[in-house]
Amino acid sequence: MSKFWSPLVNDLVPYVPGEQPKMANLVKLNTNENPFGPSPKVIEAIKAELNDGLRLYPDPEGESLRQTIAEYHKVKPEQIFLGNGSDEVLAHIFFGLFQHGEPILFPDITYSFYPVYCGLYNIESRKISLTESFEINPDDFKQPNGGVIFPNPNAPTGRYLELQHVEEILAANSDRVVVVDEAYIDFGGESAITLVDKYPNLLVSQTLSKARSLAGLRVGFAVGHPDLIEALNRVKNSFNSYPLDRLALAGAKAAYEDEAWFRKCCDGVISERERVTAALEGLGFEVLPSKANFIFARHKDQPGEVLAKGLREQGIIVRHFNKPRISEFLRITIGTVEQNDALIGGLRSL
Ligand SMILES: *Cc1c(COP(=O)(O)O)cnc(C)c1O
Repeated sequence: MSKFWSPLVNDLVPYVPGEQPKMANLVKLNTNENPFGPSPKVIEAIKAELNDGLRLYPDPEGESLRQTIAEYHKVKPEQIFLGNGSDEVLAHIFFGLFQHGEPILFPDITYSFYPVYCGLYNIESRKISLTESFEINPDDFKQPNGGVIFPNPNAPTGRYLELQHVEEILAANSDRVVVVDEAYIDFGGESAITLVDKYPNLLVSQTLSKARSLAGLRVGFAVGHPDLIEALNRVKNSFNSYPLDRLALAGAKAAYEDEAWFRKCCDGVISERERVTAALEGLGFEVLPSKANFIFARHKDQPGEVLAKGLREQGIIVRHFNKPRISEFLRITIGTVEQNDALIGGLRSL
């Protein structure tokens, strides 16, 4: 606390991102980054932007990138909102679409940034318990609220909610915005973007950090009805007109233009996910069915905290959450074949 702080700052409970250790040679499976690098075409496009043009501000509307993403998802550019990572997009969603004086709804086990935004913007929330098997029950989201948000697949569970159930939640909340955070959708799920023209209350957020291997570039976006997008633009233009720099705009566009690379990376993650799942089951783990680039697993008699610590001593970093219901679990990012072999070997030795 400091006398210089705005009073609000005293009460903030900030998000704690997964550790980015400075040590070399770690097997880093803790923050769901993609083990395969970005497309070489992305690197070329970024290099091509490294010139005198950097003295000029970037396009505040990111029109060219919005056009590319719109074509890719078969929507109109005015249905796309860009942000500096989907975290920034989510922040603007909370500020611009969730302040209705009633609690918003999200699962009890979910992305831990949601309660942080609630704290920042003073938004009430109600946590909806996942089922015993860590699934979202759509019926639980049929109650008065100020908005709904959940990741699909959910994080950190990896569990996927079929599109017909997403649609049930949308239909039951036609007077409120329902946000589907699809950070991990490309690892085996079906995007709700196909529903945006049918449901004006639907906003889908996606990121280039996970499936497109660009966590370092900071690009995310939302897709929805132009009225929802306009609210986000009003917030953004009252905060930072240029959330995406020239390098990010160029690199992101190139990422969408290299579909083959994207497919190869996703397929690689999916096949490794199935292999790691089988290996861990063989070691006595229960592994929740995952459609993400990570798995969520608990051992039948080894505590999660002990395993996380034991792995760390071997230079392998995974995520452990000391939270109710999930403290026995490890969240393990799917890495390269070699990294996954190291993980399996490490767990076997423990
Ligand atoms: C990683 C992640 C994000 C944030 O992605 P960025 O675009 O890197 O900010 C958002 N939601 C969920 C559920 C995530 O796991």
